[in-house]
Amino acid sequence: MKIKLTDKLSILQVNDHFRDWNMLDDERVCLLCGRRFSGHEVLISTADEEVEMHCPTPDCKSGVHQWIYPVNPLISEKTYQDWWLALGAGNRSEDADGVDGVPSPQPT
Ligand SMILES: [Zn+2]
Repeated sequence: MKIKLTDKLSILQVNDHFRDWNMLDDERVCLLCGRRFSGHEVLISTADEEVEMHCPTPDCKSGVHQWIYPVNPLISEKTYQDWWLALGAGNRSEDADGVDGVPSPQPT
């Protein structure tokens, strides 16, 4: 399935319930692999009516709830590090969907 760029932005907006996408140039940092990527690089797969969004890093199992803003003045560096640790930067074998207190994204 081929997805037009304009559609890709709406897909990001609809499926990311945690943060806002204003344009495909917006960037996120994956908490699992540490990669910084833009909306252009987000991998989108579709199965029937369900849309799944994936980190561009091969085999990275992170979900949108683990993609944070690269720079967020509302979050201190300390909090950022806590997030990093809480989401298992050094514990990648753990199921990414089982992180306490962070709901998995629900398909719409
Ligand atoms: Zn990743």
